[in-house]
Amino acid sequence: MPELPQKGENVFRGIPVSAGVCRGKILVLGRSHAAVPHYEVTVAQTPEEISRLEKALVVTRQQILDVQRKVSASMGAEEGGIFDAHLLVLEDRTLLDEVIRNIEEKKVNAEYAFHVVAEKYATSLAAIEDDYLRERATDMRDVTARILDNLSGRQEEVDLKKLKEPCIIIAYDLTPSTTAQLDRKTVLGFATEVGGRTSHTAIMARSLRIPAVVGLKGVSNELATGQYALLDGFNGVVIVNPTDQTLFEYGQIIRKQVTLEEKLRDVQAKPAVTLDGHRITLSANIEQASDAEEVRASGAEGVGLFRTEFLFINREKLPTEEEQYQAYRHVAAALKPQPIVIRTLDLGGDKFLSHLQVPTEMNPFLGWRAIRYCLQEKGVFRSQLRAILRASAEGNIKMMYPMISGLDELNQANAVVETCKAELRAEKQPFDQNLEIGAMIEIPSAVLVADSLARRLKFFSLGTNDLIQYTLAVDRMNEKVAHLYEPTHPAILRLIKATVDAAKKAGLWVGVCGEMAGDPVLTALLLGLGVDELSAAPPLVPPVKFLIRRLKLNEAKQLAEFALGCESASEILCRCQAFARDIAPSLFEGKI
Ligand code: PEP
Ligand code: MG
Repeated sequence: MPELPQKGENVFRGIPVSAGVCRGKILVLGRSHAAVPHYEVTVAQTPEEISRLEKALVVTRQQILDVQRKVSASMGAEEGGIFDAHLLVLEDRTLLDEVIRNIEEKKVNAEYAFHVVAEKYATSLAAIEDDYLRERATDMRDVTARILDNLSGRQEEVDLKKLKEPCIIIAYDLTPSTTAQLDRKTVLGFATEVGGRTSHTAIMARSLRIPAVVGLKGVSNELATGQYALLDGFNGVVIVNPTDQTLFEYGQIIRKQVTLEEKLRDVQAKPAVTLDGHRITLSANIEQASDAEEVRASGAEGVGLFRTEFLFINREKLPTEEEQYQAYRHVAAALKPQPIVIRTLDLGGDKFLSHLQVPTEMNPFLGWRAIRYCLQEKGVFRSQLRAILRASAEGNIKMMYPMISGLDELNQANAVVETCKAELRAEKQPFDQNLEIGAMIEIPSAVLVADSLARRLKFFSLGTNDLIQYTLAVDRMNEKVAHLYEPTHPAILRLIKATVDAAKKAGLWVGVCGEMAGDPVLTALLLGLGVDELSAAPPLVPPVKFLIRRLKLNEAKQLAEFALGCESASEILCRCQAFARDIAPSLFEGKI
């Protein structure tokens, strides 16, 4: 158990990822929401690891028996019987012997040994075409989560959809799929130990307008449920037991924020046009069909990135073609005649599907992700393409592929689209015969062959989140290297410029839909580099528009020219900050 709450103010500093200030009671989540700890143990420590495992098995067994008793009493013996399968996992000698062998031979901690072995069994069970065995895979994972919680001495998993009172969540990590389920009414804010600004968990927090901080080392162990805290998502701070003075200072920041929000509401219905009369396309990024209303309210002109993978996660079965069609059609019809850029499935990396058991990979961001997955799982790809094509009859839909690394992938993807079009024609189903297809430019190799790609496409959308991670070899999820994740690195700016040049030469438009597009500090730089469109999470659209309306394109071009000639990422960033603060100081008043 963590130490009891200490008296006195205690400040934890991390990385701010979603703006806003909140205060309330803390809820510390168990580690089943988190990455599994993995460390080496010495030969002398292995008996202790095995003993920890045995104790955790005993506690888990008792917990399952308790739950079984309660369920049988309230729902009947048949329902209670479901937990027999869970108990069987705890008695499976083959599995347990293999875990013990792993601890002894590989010299790893009990959590990791159990996770690896159980996941291997669960993956094989899930791959068999048999509903009963697939269920057993789910049982195996449920029991594993319990055992891991017990091994780590954490409380059981909390159902985040049923929180009784508003709270600030503290966790080692939150997956994007868990974050997607958070309700702003009960989750005031959250803080995690791991993660980076462009992890999908952080992106989701911004979309949901939930203040969030990541990279807060040790918080999940040092803080306890029930403590009172203030979370500052502007500056990346969590303050436990804040003093009256701190609360007073934050009261002032919140008041300034309210004034700023009023100013931002003023620009909502106005165009994104610079002081010298250049019209910029400012769109929104969305994750679910129900976000369409938010897009309109934000003052964006359509959707520059619809991340469709969130239609696939947090559910038991793949969405059917019809379900997807309804979702895409809904957004297209709601925002017609504004354009909606639907991105085909970008599964993998940090987004996994609960029902498709994708094997654990050493480097998931370099692995079976996005277009690579779709080109192998053609059934999944085709049903999505057919749904997008059908929805294109009902609004202004465009489509783009994620993670294109070269021409072969693009040609293969286009060939699948042609097959789907031929099918739909044969079935006499209407679709937009001139549907515009583009590609995300988010891998450095795609920039280098952008001229070839451009000949087969109608637009590019720069996915700077991945472009930065792949170019600088910096994991976008890893707080330990977050200081190296530099959007203003000269290499990144040259890649953006090269993409814009290739696009312009071929007559394509080029947008940015990575998180750079939602940072007002970088707006002038991107426009100066020649991008035509910026697409950001709906809450970030008003500040970006506010800034656009206060700059001159000429000055933005001078800033970009300076940046392209500069050798230092931090110097470029300072110049961008000074430029933005100079023309729109009120946007930055929440910053300490
Ligand atoms: C990107 O990589 O910049 C992007 C927009 O895609 P995602 O964040 O979903 O990987
Ligand atoms: Mg990406």
